[in-house]
Amino acid sequence: METILLLAHTETDGSLAKSAREALHAAATLHKSLAGSKLLIGLVGKNVRAAANSIAACPATKYFGVTGADFSQARYATDAAAAEAICKAAQATLVVAPATSRWARVLPGVAQRLGGRADTHVTGVAVADGKISVNRWYYRQRMESSQTRTQRPWILGIDPGSQEPCGCNAGMATVEMVSVNLSDAAKRTTVVGIREPKADAQTIRPDAQLLFVTGAGWTKKQADGQTHLPEAEQLILGFLKKSRASLGSSKSLVDQSGEGQAVLPFLSHLNQVGQTGATPRHAKGLSTCCHGEEPHTVGWRFIGERRAISLDPNCGWARGKADVLYVADAFKVMAKVNELLASGGNA
Ligand SMILES: Cc1cc2nc3c(=O)[nH]c(=O)nc-3n(C[C@H](O)[C@H](O)[C@H](O)COP(=O)(O)OP(=O)(O)OC[C@H]3O[C@@H](n4cnc5c(N)ncnc54)[C@H](O)[C@@H]3O)c2cc1C
Repeated sequence: METILLLAHTETDGSLAKSAREALHAAATLHKSLAGSKLLIGLVGKNVRAAANSIAACPATKYFGVTGADFSQARYATDAAAAEAICKAAQATLVVAPATSRWARVLPGVAQRLGGRADTHVTGVAVADGKISVNRWYYRQRMESSQTRTQRPWILGIDPGSQEPCGCNAGMATVEMVSVNLSDAAKRTTVVGIREPKADAQTIRPDAQLLFVTGAGWTKKQADGQTHLPEAEQLILGFLKKSRASLGSSKSLVDQSGEGQAVLPFLSHLNQVGQTGATPRHAKGLSTCCHGEEPHTVGWRFIGERRAISLDPNCGWARGKADVLYVADAFKVMAKVNELLASGGNA
């Protein structure tokens, strides 16, 4: 009989992130499908009461917490100690955790300490004939596998964006505190601050409905023999501002800055989508001035509906990689789209 533990950390404001609710959805799915299983919750953070209360109506029977200022920020030594202590207190056989950057670097080490195994990038869980299987993607999202394990505890890092967030309501939860003895060495690393782009310069929006991708064509000479960078910048930023889309890019375009060419300054390698870039999840994607080559389009695996605007009717998008290809000048199309958005239209 499995003891399923949802293991999550709180955000700095004490809340639970959407990714934690998604992991809870996966844990609750397993619990529902495995007769006789128990569902428990383990929370780590400065104070976990608000987070526990926010999901108190879920089917979990017990809550464990590791709290205190030492656990407010991400730090391998303290996070691993907290996770290990909760897993032991709960006697968990299955540990389901959101694969946030904070947890992803800690969970495999925790599995090692517990004599268990960890699987990362889990995008699905299922039970058939009492056997649990998990899904994950390999070779840059080109191949999907379904796999199972007999080793326990089994830690599953659930990829954010891959599940429906659990919609369970709030209530009053009783949290059993688990104490962790930390040596001074465990507290050597301190987070002194967070550097991040200003809110209006933040173009990567994982929760956006639409991914808007720019390719190197925006910087190429156009029909008049000239490049039009200021116009490209104005069209792209204007669209992002109005649509609140997330901004992606082809590798060719972000690489140009490294090669000292005139480029769009708001793009960095963090925007790159593809084999050597990111694999974002959005309901829709619109690619502009991009050729749609294989190493680029593997990053589109989890985009629901794909559209592209390219001048080249024989480009990669036309070869079955886009649902809709507009063979058109992206400068003209996006100017018209921005005009429609400004007059109250919908993107
Ligand atoms: C090992 C390896 C890994 C790679 N990993 C990645 C990766 O992770 N991500 C990635 O993106 N690439 C990756 N690449 C590179 C990839 O193969 C392509 O070279 C790259 O994505 C092409 O970028 P692009 O389409 O922006 O540029 P280009 O190939 O230069 O295409 C520009 C396009 O813009 C169009 N265009 C120009 N002007 C207009 C206009 N006015 N309106 C509409 N269309 C216009 C042109 O018709 C053309 O199709 C990788 C390559 C290798 C070898």
